[in-house]
Amino acid sequence: MRGFGTTIFAEMSALAVQTDSVNLGQGFPDTDGPAQLLADAAEAIRTGHNQYPPGQGVPELRAAVAAHQRECYGLHLDPGTEVLVTAGATEAIAAAILALAGSGDEVILFEPYYDSYAACVALAGATRKTITLRPDPAGEWRFDPAELAAAVTPRTRAIVLNTPHNPTGKVFGPAELAEIAAVAVEHDLVVVTDEVYEHLAFDGRTHTPIATLPGMAQRTLTIGSAGKTFSVTGWKIGWATGPAQLVGAVRTVKQFLTYVNGAPFQPAVARALGAGSWTGVAERLQAQRDLLCDGMQALGYDVIRPQATYFATVDVHGDAVEFCRELPHRAGVVAIPSSVFYDSDAGDSLVRFAFCKRPDVLHEALQRLEKAS
Ligand code: PMP
Ligand code: GLN
Repeated sequence: MRGFGTTIFAEMSALAVQTDSVNLGQGFPDTDGPAQLLADAAEAIRTGHNQYPPGQGVPELRAAVAAHQRECYGLHLDPGTEVLVTAGATEAIAAAILALAGSGDEVILFEPYYDSYAACVALAGATRKTITLRPDPAGEWRFDPAELAAAVTPRTRAIVLNTPHNPTGKVFGPAELAEIAAVAVEHDLVVVTDEVYEHLAFDGRTHTPIATLPGMAQRTLTIGSAGKTFSVTGWKIGWATGPAQLVGAVRTVKQFLTYVNGAPFQPAVARALGAGSWTGVAERLQAQRDLLCDGMQALGYDVIRPQATYFATVDVHGDAVEFCRELPHRAGVVAIPSSVFYDSDAGDSLVRFAFCKRPDVLHEALQRLEKAS
């Protein structure tokens, strides 16, 4: 793991505390999830859900995840064998990559990529190949399907997809998903798809799981998380769904990572999933996106407005790492250099700002940026 060091999120959150900055770096909301969800978890602790839960997750959460995938996307899953509860999406990603790839194998990622993908490929002893997402003049992030097709070799085991995408905020559309699906089917690859922002799409956009495309359900591991859907990122309740054979392989690895986790949180999340308790969250976030993006544009920043997620991208037309190191001292605001999510130099001038913060916090950040400009 040489070269991975401290994650950029830990580094920048520590810098935010040290410099008393507004933290628009690490993506976590500064308001709690639904009151009922919090009360249900407290109740579960009070009523004795405090020992190891079943290895695959408590039955009510597995049933709720299966019902969610069916009702939202028409995906039919057996909660007994095709749903696995994990310690956040992070563990599902790690266990999936460790299950699928080993020494000498290759895994395809889209860059910029969420940092744990590259780390997990390294943990597996495998090699990553990256396909670059680039913003077009209208601010739409696109990839070249020919680049994807050319990246596949006989050692390719999986494609890791993330939609809606961190850090770009891109929602992969059906035509783009079809391009990825075609490559996966042609080369008999598994797609690991990280869909933790599935309910955080804006402007009426809808998220399409790649598992719903023809030929894909049998070769896709879909990953979700309560952290983003219910604004409880510290709870670390995630899940992986897909065909029994693939979920079984993920479960084998998961057993030796955490074994199990989050006993009192699991029944609470089950109830919130069943109740559809994410209503209104995307609308609130969209308003926060517009507040930050409009404000930064008015200050002269070159902003790429996201279609989903917690994050906006700003092209600082200079060295992003240097910009982010200086910004806390210069303005009292912390952001993340998107360049750390690339292997290539395509993101060298891009900076990620999180807007999953209360409007007063975003206003304060804008005022500080204005003063420093
Ligand atoms: N995937 C993506 C794309 C993320 O942005 C994050 C972090 N929020 C995670 C996975 C990790 O999710 P969790 O906190 O459920 O482990
Ligand atoms: N997913 C969040 C982000 O992208 C936080 C991740 C983390 O701290 N590991 O900011």
